[in-house]
Amino acid sequence: MIHLLGIEVAADVLADLAAELAPVFRMACQVRPERLDVAFAHDRMRNQHHSTAILQAMQPLAESGARLLAVTSVDLYVPVLTFVFGEAQLTGSCAVVSLHRLREEFYGLPAREELMRERLVKEAVHELGHTFGLRHCDDWRCVMTSSHGVERLDVKGAGFCVLCGRAVTGARARAAAMV
Ligand SMILES: [Zn+2]
Ligand SMILES: [Zn+2]
Repeated sequence: MIHLLGIEVAADVLADLAAELAPVFRMACQVRPERLDVAFAHDRMRNQHHSTAILQAMQPLAESGARLLAVTSVDLYVPVLTFVFGEAQLTGSCAVVSLHRLREEFYGLPAREELMRERLVKEAVHELGHTFGLRHCDDWRCVMTSSHGVERLDVKGAGFCVLCGRAVTGARARAAAMV
């Protein structure tokens, strides 16, 4: 089961994302009704939110065996980087992705809703992939390739390469066997 948690994100964006993620991971994907206030993770100097702190706050909300993905409009960072599109717990249960830099408006361009949603799916699949134990992939077409810019995000696909796909299937099977 994959649960989505919106943090200042339109309900239809979440519902559409849930519909895209379910077939990729072959798991049910539902939007959770809870609200998560992330004001505590805000850094006033950077005017950004610390993604690792958000992941820690999400941890108690995660159901055992399920993945919890937060989708937020706030800009995210980790201290060593100027920004992150998202962050995940490697082989954990929580991940967070931000729409902030996936919008063309951020780069001073006209809004492109479809492109923003495409980017969101890629980023969400990527971060959830980390929760299944996947690390970055050398195949530039694979969704697990690292992409620290929208240009890179736009050239890669939304799916796993054969090796990464196998790794996710294996991780899912192991998790199922433990229940
Ligand atoms: Zn990554
Ligand atoms: Zn791959």
